[in-house]
Amino acid sequence: MRNLELLKEKLQSSQKVIIVPHRRPDADALGSCLALSMYLQKKGHETLVISPDEYPQFLFWMTGNEQVAIYENGNQAELNKKINEADLIFCLDFSSLDRIEKLGEPIAKSPAEKVLIDHHLGKEDFAKYELWDTKASATAELIFDFITLLGDQKMIDVEIAECIYAGIMTDTGSFKYSSTSSKVHRNIAVLMDRGLNTERIHRLVYDTNSENRIRFLGFALDNRLEIIREYNTAFIYIKAEDLKRFNSKTGDTEGLVNYALSIEGIKLAAMFTDRNDGISMSFRSVGDFSVSELAAKHFNGGGHKNAAGGRLDIPLEDVIKKFKEVLKEYEAALKA
Ligand code: 5GP
Ligand code: MN
Repeated sequence: MRNLELLKEKLQSSQKVIIVPHRRPDADALGSCLALSMYLQKKGHETLVISPDEYPQFLFWMTGNEQVAIYENGNQAELNKKINEADLIFCLDFSSLDRIEKLGEPIAKSPAEKVLIDHHLGKEDFAKYELWDTKASATAELIFDFITLLGDQKMIDVEIAECIYAGIMTDTGSFKYSSTSSKVHRNIAVLMDRGLNTERIHRLVYDTNSENRIRFLGFALDNRLEIIREYNTAFIYIKAEDLKRFNSKTGDTEGLVNYALSIEGIKLAAMFTDRNDGISMSFRSVGDFSVSELAAKHFNGGGHKNAAGGRLDIPLEDVIKKFKEVLKEYEAALKA
């Protein structure tokens, strides 16, 4: 970790700490923030988690959820003041400030020292302290490492363990992606020894679907899935009217893109969602095909080799047209 010793020294005395996940935080981003927040509070620091915007209800069980401030619909003047008066700002599960929307500006301007803990490609250089490892399965794994580096592994209690576990479980696709090292399993064993109930967390995250969400899934797979065999590619597109029809909530589209990827022979999967403020995109791949490169080059995004996202402010039909056009450039890699 860059400047670990300096940070250790700083954390010897009580600090005012702000902790921020990327926009539309997932279980890894939010779980990392809440785990770190609980740990730092136990050490006597004052913490506040500020999310750029809302996150799905299936994450509300996490300890500390009620105290999370939502910047988008919160008291921004007051939050800006807190950001400005902070000693330390932890940026978790993102590595460029454009991933936190309007929060980027007050955070960049704040005199507070920044700490980056992340596993995404394409890092900007804005943090004095960095724990950045693109091989890490999840930012939550790095939070475990961070606490361990500070010599405090014993301070991980069951609530902290639950948040860390949720992040690793979701970012590894329930321990199936190649990022799931033996170290991941060993660390989970430590968490289980602290009283973590893995089955409970799995159920809370994955088995709390609303009826609408399940029907929406069926609708999308039946009516909004296109397969381009020629390029071993499949994509799902969601219109704004679809989200309205099924009364979709934040997070209802999460994981949908993986169904497209699960089709036999498919190497590249994409999902395009029209949220009435531009089109958000998810990309997944198997093997060597890098979706983070594709997302960065053509769709204002980035991420990891096999899981990335992006966003374009053009109509959905044009995004689909562009995607089909872009595929030609990758013909050799996709057909191989
Ligand atoms: P998802 O498709 O689940 O939203 O995102 C897949 C992965 O790509 C996640 O690790 C997410 O953090 C990352 N990601 C999503 N959108 C963007 C983006 O616009 N820029 C970058 N750099 N990463 C993204
Ligand atoms: Mn992550």
